[in-house]
Amino acid sequence: MENLISKLELLRNTAYLVLAAAVKNIYPTARLGLGKATADGFYYDFDFSTPIKTEDLPKIEAEMQRLIKLDLPITMVEKGKAEAGRILDGLNEGYKTEVLASIPRGKKIFFYKVDGLTDVAEGPFLASTGKIKAQAIQLTGITGAYWLADAKNKMLTRVTGFAFEKKSELDEYLVQQEEIKKRDHNKIGKELEYFMTVDCVGQGLPHMMPNGYKVLQILQRFVEDEEERRGYMHVRTPILAKKELYELSGHWAHYKDGMFVLGNEVLDEEVFALRPMTCPFHFFIYKNAIRSYRDLPMRYGETAILFRNENSGEMHGLTRVRQFTLAEGHIIARPDQIQMVFDECLDLIIYFMKNIGVNDRISYRLSKWDPKNPKKYYGTAKEWEKSQDELRESLKRNKLKFTEADGEAAFYGPKIDIQARNVHGKEDTMMTLQLDFSLAERYDMTYVDENGEKARPVIIHRASMGCYERTLAMLIEHYAGALPAWLAPTQAVIMGISNKMDDYANQVYTQLRNAGVRIKLDLRPEKVGYKIREATVKKIPYMIVVGEREQQDGKISVRTREGEDLGSMTPQEFMTRISNES
Ligand code: ZN
Repeated sequence: MENLISKLELLRNTAYLVLAAAVKNIYPTARLGLGKATADGFYYDFDFSTPIKTEDLPKIEAEMQRLIKLDLPITMVEKGKAEAGRILDGLNEGYKTEVLASIPRGKKIFFYKVDGLTDVAEGPFLASTGKIKAQAIQLTGITGAYWLADAKNKMLTRVTGFAFEKKSELDEYLVQQEEIKKRDHNKIGKELEYFMTVDCVGQGLPHMMPNGYKVLQILQRFVEDEEERRGYMHVRTPILAKKELYELSGHWAHYKDGMFVLGNEVLDEEVFALRPMTCPFHFFIYKNAIRSYRDLPMRYGETAILFRNENSGEMHGLTRVRQFTLAEGHIIARPDQIQMVFDECLDLIIYFMKNIGVNDRISYRLSKWDPKNPKKYYGTAKEWEKSQDELRESLKRNKLKFTEADGEAAFYGPKIDIQARNVHGKEDTMMTLQLDFSLAERYDMTYVDENGEKARPVIIHRASMGCYERTLAMLIEHYAGALPAWLAPTQAVIMGISNKMDDYANQVYTQLRNAGVRIKLDLRPEKVGYKIREATVKKIPYMIVVGEREQQDGKISVRTREGEDLGSMTPQEFMTRISNES
């Protein structure tokens, strides 16, 4: 019995073969490139003598469906390399000849025939075209694709499609894709003017516009205030450092390619690099004085700008970036405080995730060492087992569901990974609580214990909101752009029924703005209905309308972006309502 995945793959393989047959029937001069099954369907690359357009797809799809309904057999013949070459020459399929040349001698070559098509392909395929459900496939588009994915080669035309076993599965998938598109942070983030990128600045370097930065600022203040309440000391440390620092930290030997290096190692006396983390900077602050066991744990926090030199092709919106902001922190603790520190770190994370409304998306993983391979790790088996038990207890005490993974820990200590489920249903690691046995020694960090002796602390690297840019992306997708009022860059917009109301509108606007409401005044000579529609599109939570009656009563009329009429209230009542929402 084949499992579901291979059954689907077989189906999707067959779909690309049927696509090739359909294209050859309609465009006999088209040259065949290669076809492939994908995660949700299939594609085939062609070299058309006259370029085709999206409008041509229904015609090709109709031909595919005709071939499927005829339930034509798909036959296979095996040939030697020399004979295969002669056949392909006869068919004038140059791309296939090129592929054939790369196949080692003695390897079996399979020709597949369906209707008028003869193709050399890896397969396997279903026995006949009718094994595909015509209603469960759909062509989705055309894009350019370099032959063999090499930019030096000719650009071919890739025809893509979805393929499922049943029509209902395709329909469900289409609905899901629509939903994902609607929530895409890259699209919404640009429409709502949260962020933008500029070609000559570079990929992966988003510019946070006033709306986007306002949300980041609210989040950042929220995090810093709460951390301060919980005993964190915030610091600001340099975004770049000399090569010597990275030699000490080990990044120069192991992570140099991931960093932006400034200066030339041969020519310059000092070479710098932009930081990918803050750890050593915080450690130097710790080392600035002698610390007693009574001082621990010491909690350093920083809203840190960090850099990673990733490939520009991998950049995407706010999720794959080269410069980002992390709510980073390092806790320096006595070994007997590990459990307490993990408890408080988890409690803080849960507090933040609940407040921003995404707690349901979060899951936890305890990443452990591989006990069969102790040489790979720093520290003793006893230390590892004990600390892993403590981390597990913290997860249990916080009543969190979690999984455990052997061999997923870094060499210097076990960790808890906090994962968030994205709109595609996949898990992204959002942040990590990392226990570290090794760095205190590397940086020679100590404290004076109860007996007046020098002792080694342990270090916990932690994040509490993850990377702010990523968190904003998650919030945009989670709320489809309609952020809760306490996070919305603009909370309300006020407008008058007519321009006669301008003075009163202005007066209420000033009153609310001075009280801290993020409000905009809209006095344009447009109809109220138009202004309300515009504010709804901008996902502004509240629209305030004032007319003569409101002016007489000293009140305002309030409606929500969902279209609910909240009736009239005093500005004071509105302020109370807004502040209760956070
Ligand atoms: Zn760190």
